[in-house]
This record gives sequence, C-alpha cells and structure tokens, in this order.
Amino acid sequence: MVFKMHWADVIASRLKSSGGPHRIATGITPSGHIHVGNMREILTGDLVHKASLDADVDSKLYYLADDFDPLRKVYPFLPDHYKEHVGKPLSEIPSPGEDDGTYSNYFLDPFLGSVRSLGIEAEVLPSSISYREGKYAEPIKILLDNRDKVKEILERVSKRDLPDDWLPYNSKCPHCGRIDSTKALSWEEPYVHFKCSCGHEGKADTRTDDGKLPWRLDWPARWYWLGVTCEPFGKDHAAAGGSYDTSSEIMRSILGKEPPEPVVYEWIQLKGKGAMSSSKGVVVSGVDMLKMTPPEVLRFLIARNQPSRHIDMDPGLGILNLVDEFDRYEKEYYLNEEDVEEKGDRRRAFELSMVDRSNNGPIPVQVPYRHLVTLVQLVDDLEGLKAMVMRTEGISEMDEISTHMLQQRADSVRFWLDRFAPEMVKFTLFDEPPDDEVKNLTDEMVLSLRAMREDLPKIEWNAENIHHTIYEGSRARDINPKITFRSFYRILLGRDRGPRLGFFLSTMSRDDILRKLDITFDKIN
Ligand SMILES: [Zn+2]
Repeated sequence: MVFKMHWADVIASRLKSSGGPHRIATGITPSGHIHVGNMREILTGDLVHKASLDADVDSKLYYLADDFDPLRKVYPFLPDHYKEHVGKPLSEIPSPGEDDGTYSNYFLDPFLGSVRSLGIEAEVLPSSISYREGKYAEPIKILLDNRDKVKEILERVSKRDLPDDWLPYNSKCPHCGRIDSTKALSWEEPYVHFKCSCGHEGKADTRTDDGKLPWRLDWPARWYWLGVTCEPFGKDHAAAGGSYDTSSEIMRSILGKEPPEPVVYEWIQLKGKGAMSSSKGVVVSGVDMLKMTPPEVLRFLIARNQPSRHIDMDPGLGILNLVDEFDRYEKEYYLNEEDVEEKGDRRRAFELSMVDRSNNGPIPVQVPYRHLVTLVQLVDDLEGLKAMVMRTEGISEMDEISTHMLQQRADSVRFWLDRFAPEMVKFTLFDEPPDDEVKNLTDEMVLSLRAMREDLPKIEWNAENIHHTIYEGSRARDINPKITFRSFYRILLGRDRGPRLGFFLSTMSRDDILRKLDITFDKIN
C-alpha cells in the first residue's frame, strides 16, 4: 500500500525543499460580509502553514486586508447615501453599522473573531497601514522608474491597451477623498503629480498613504516587501493572462525576485444557488458557518478536499452529513491504528482539522449531530441534555473534554435549527395527545398503538429494541410498520413524520410513553 500524503504536506515539502524562511499570504477586500467561501482562502493558507511548521519549516502566515481599496459601488445591503462614498478607500468610509468605526472594520472585525476560534494564528496587515508606514515605497519607486516596461508587460500579458502617458499609481484626492478618480501626470521621486476629475490638482507622496498601486501591481509589490513565498488564491486570478501571470512576470523581470508558490483553490458553492458572492447576497457568512458547526468541522470541510476540488455546501441537511463524516474521520483517527499507511491522508486531514491538538487521550464521546437535533428540542439545559445523552447513547461517564464538546455542539445545533434547518426536522412535543389527533386516528392506527401498548412493556428500554419491536410487533399482527410510525408521530407531534422513532421514544421514559398511549385509548372510549 502506498502512503498517500495530504495535500498540505505535499505543498509544505515543496516549500521545505526550496529553502526558507517562508511567508504565506492570504487576504481579502473587506467590502461586504465575509462569507464561508472566503474562509477557504485563509484556511487553505493556515493548513499549509501548520503542515510547514510540522515539517520544521520556518513559516509565518499573514492576512492582508485590502482596506485601502475603493468602495466600488453602493451594494444592495448599503443605504443610498453611500453614493457619496463610492471611490473612497474602505478604511476612510464610516461604518454602515451602529458603531462609529470604519467601513472596513465593520466587516473585518467579526471575521477576525471567527479566525481566532478556528485556531488560526495569522498576522493581520491592513493595507491602509502598510501604505501609511511606507512599506510599499521601494517597490513603488522601482515600478514608476520602470513604467515603460511595466506598461509593456501589462499590455502584452493581459491583452489590454493603456494610454501612452499612463503611470502605475493612483493618488488619493485630498479634496473629494476618492482614490479612483485621479490621473497621474508625472513622477518626480518621491512625488506623483496628479489631477482629479473633481478639478483638484496636487502631488502625492508615494512613501505614505497619499495613494496606492493599481491591483495588478499592488500584488507583486506586496510579494516584494513582505517576502511572500506561498499564496493561496481563487481560480479567477489564475486564468491565462490573469493577475497571477502579469504579477509573476513583473516580479521576475522588474522587481527581480521569484513569485510565490501558487495554491489555486476552487469556489465553494451554495447547493442549488451557484457561487457565493457577497454582492449578490447569496451568502452564508463565515460567522454563521462557525455558529452552526464546531470550528473543527469548518476546518475539516477545507482540509479533506483538495484545493482544486470544488465544494458544494448545503447549509440545510448537508450540515448533518458533514458532521457525520467528521465523526467517522475522528473515529478512524483514534481507533484504527493499523490503517495508518492506507489512510494516511485521511488521518492527516482530521489531525489538521483539530483546533487543539493536545488531546492524546481517548476518543471524545461522539454524540451524532442528528441525535442532538432531536435532543435539544426536548431539553434546554446542559445538565438535562447530558443526562439524556448518557441514557440514550448508553454512556456511563463523560469527561470534561466531552462535556465541553457536547455543549459546543448543542449550541451549534440550536443555531442551525433557528437559522438554516429545514422545517421537516423541527418539532414540538405535545404534553399529551390532543383530542383532534386522537379523533383522526383510523381503526388500523388505533390497532397499531394497542399492539405497542402490549409489546413495549416487555422489552429493555433502548432505541434499538424499541425500533425492532415496532417493526416486528406490527408485522406479527399484519400491520404495515409505516402505519405504526405514523400513529406515534400523530399523537406525539401532530405530524406524519418525525425523528427516528426508536431513538425518539428512547429519549423519554417508558412510563411516559405508556401514559400517553393510555390517555389516547381513554379519549377514544
Ligand atoms: Zn477629487
């Protein structure tokens, strides 16, 4: 059996063989809610970073927030009066929220909170500050000094025409505040003279945040000053003639360094809705995703898929399957030592998904997500939940780690039920069977319940036995088990379907179920 390496380890070993130190850059333009699709970038970077550290590579992870980019338009989620801010840097526009901070921080701050809970340790570098501190001064000078060569590369590789007097620098107009409406007139180190469409003329000091490089030059410039050696980015930048191609050639032939190792990742799509995009409003925010699954599961979603594989994300029932799959990997990781060779990359995917890798102890108690979906709708508090879990899952003891994980999962499931779960999994349990439901039972349904009243007192009370009894007891009396299932759901929930019945009944005491059956029969008579 060939040992299969995890993709992050493959990249890490490439980085190791090319020497070091390694600087991995990820980032975003914080112009709207940061969705789970964007999470792929920073998690991909973090997985490569962690794999590099494991391989003794000198590695650092950065998160570059492009808050010095202009607001491109009034997005649907913004009030109309944001028209006056279009074209200004995001870091210089007021927050659209209640706070008195900046536009960019309004979207960035909650995301950075999520990033920490995912166990990602990235140094955050807002571009507004990097420009202000003069980090870009040297590459800006080199690019402006070589403006003919820059222009030739951009025109040839990206197949577009630039004006003859074009200069690669966008000044910020101190009069109208826009950074996208000025035209550079001349370069006289360290100043760029400009004229704005508002009429204002002035000079920008390129060693400060008086202006910035256009995107296709900003990218190689940051590789240059930060020493970036590896960078994950979406496939849009990887197209032939796209920004990675132009940036790479500019990096090599003008800035004189090698471009970073690219890690191109595919989109995350929302099932049935197409690619996620903050501007189109097709969004599950990264924060939402973290609230509906434990952080390990979000890491796992990215770790178990090759970056080149597109991910279909179903925030409805798909979440239950995703957590089930995570649980299977966890079990393998802790229990199947002999499969190390064959399942090396699966074990590693799980290992890289852990937020805290210090647990070398026994496997934590796994409570299936779909069971929790039922349980949290029956009990509110952690103690009650814990007791019910121990009873229904047949667990005699629950250590601190497992209790903590149970609480985390219960909170996630409640959030999911509230925001994303389909109606079919939600229910309210009747205190006792209501008259209407009893009246509507057919003769066959009543027979099925009477049969259960006879059989259920005879068994040991657990999910499997109950399930078996419903099947066999019904069949023994020529009743379709489906009828029996439906009868229970009607008198307990007032619906035709519900949670898996054997498990569901086992969450309640036998006495309680028998009492509810007796009330039903009393009401019939
Ligand atoms: Zn202006």
